[in-house]
Amino acid sequence: MAASALSKVESVGVNLSNALEDRGLRRTATRMTVTGRIEQLNGAFTAEQLCRDLPGVGRATVYRTIRHLVDAGALCKLPILDGAPMYSIARIEHHHHTICSSCGAVGEFRHSTVERVMRSLAKEIDGDIVGHRMEIFITCNSCLAESATGKFSVHV
Ligand SMILES: [Zn+2]
Ligand SMILES: [Zn+2]
Ligand SMILES: [Zn+2]
Repeated sequence: MAASALSKVESVGVNLSNALEDRGLRRTATRMTVTGRIEQLNGAFTAEQLCRDLPGVGRATVYRTIRHLVDAGALCKLPILDGAPMYSIARIEHHHHTICSSCGAVGEFRHSTVERVMRSLAKEIDGDIVGHRMEIFITCNSCLAESATGKFSVHV
């Protein structure tokens, strides 16, 4: 990717348990297990993956905790081209995503041009825009490097 106005998002400390508390949910041991695991993952995950990682936690609790975190804006829900939605920790308030269609790596970015375009679109769109989202599907650099060295072949 060429150097541009695209600003990479700096990682900031995220406390998922605080996000749950802000929504009036107590810090129970199970919720702490779920948030702790998500913080360790350091990447995008599916709800099923989290259930598999946490056999001691009920599926309903895993799904409910994820939903609360999404509602709190602490997790981003990412549409995947096919398959289950993935989730990743939201490191800043408003941002967009790049998603590698090979390995699922998720990047977050902000771009002032995107926001400007959205503001000017608002005049042409009927109704009030209450939000927008954007996911850019890519083949990430490490997948490009791997396919260049022939470690795996890409099946299309
Ligand atoms: Zn995000
Ligand atoms: Zn990749
Ligand atoms: Zn935006």
